Amino acid sequence: MKFIPIFALLLFCNCTMPKDQFAEKIVIAHRGASGYLPEHTMESKAMAFAMNPDYIEQDIVLSKDDVPIVIHDIFLEEVTNVKKVFPERNRSDGRYYVIDFTLNELKLLSVHERIHLGTKKAVFPGRYPLEESDFRLHTLSEEISMIQGLNKSTGKNIGIYPEIKKPGFHKKNGKEISSIVLKVLDSFGYSKKSDPCILQCFDAVELRRIREELDSDLFLTQLIELPEGFENLEIYSSYADAIGPSIEQLILYAHGKTETEKKSLIERCRGLNLKIHAYTFRADEHPNFETFEDLLNFSFKEMEIDGGFTDFPDVLKAYFKD
Ligand code: CA
Repeated sequence: MKFIPIFALLLFCNCTMPKDQFAEKIVIAHRGASGYLPEHTMESKAMAFAMNPDYIEQDIVLSKDDVPIVIHDIFLEEVTNVKKVFPERNRSDGRYYVIDFTLNELKLLSVHERIHLGTKKAVFPGRYPLEESDFRLHTLSEEISMIQGLNKSTGKNIGIYPEIKKPGFHKKNGKEISSIVLKVLDSFGYSKKSDPCILQCFDAVELRRIREELDSDLFLTQLIELPEGFENLEIYSSYADAIGPSIEQLILYAHGKTETEKKSLIERCRGLNLKIHAYTFRADEHPNFETFEDLLNFSFKEMEIDGGFTDFPDVLKAYFKD
């Protein structure tokens, strides 16, 4: 009789084993719950919050008056009605730049689902209807205020995952985006690695500068994209805490490799104390895999990555729970 409880405990452990494999994995709401509402709107952030991701992402571009705005591109016309509201305000290349508009002007724009510039059709036709879109742009501070407010009212502790967009472009236009963003983050209490904030950037020179010259102690993610591979991990690990490759880079890396060989990437990263947060998991677009679950199995079971940026935070959360 004495042994029964131990037996029961062993059985219990066995049952929970498969669940534990995802215990440390993180879900990052990519541009909010952007699979359901237009990207980077407050509405998509509030919806994402309700889905309990670990982090909610903000892409950041400066306005003319140096206010960090949450928007994915340095351009406005794929996600707003800028052409209608300010028809004359394009540059000679025909494009409308966030950086040419003050915050007050940007607030006059209506935000909609992302469209293809040429065809004016929705990039994801199965998502929120274009004709029902009338949302607004907002600042980084406004979004952090809401997330912190929701953390207080719900008792959750959901983090933020801001990205510095195109620091070189900002510099050419006389603006130093990173210092301005760091100041905002600091004012909201995000300054250390232990704070629920991860800062990301594609520009390796800038991310290193954020660590070394701007002396940031935040958790930093070095984003990488094709055609780059995983040759520079040692360099990244000297200033960053994670890498952010695209799914395509992972697929290319895994091509023709055995299960064991595939694991060498995560093993090298673990050795260098680098996490892997890959982008972008879309339940409605996974060209290399028959089903979304196949893509998730490849990424989280075969490649053992640590987290994912997803337009569908609820689906990734459910996958980790099953
Ligand atoms: Ca981003």
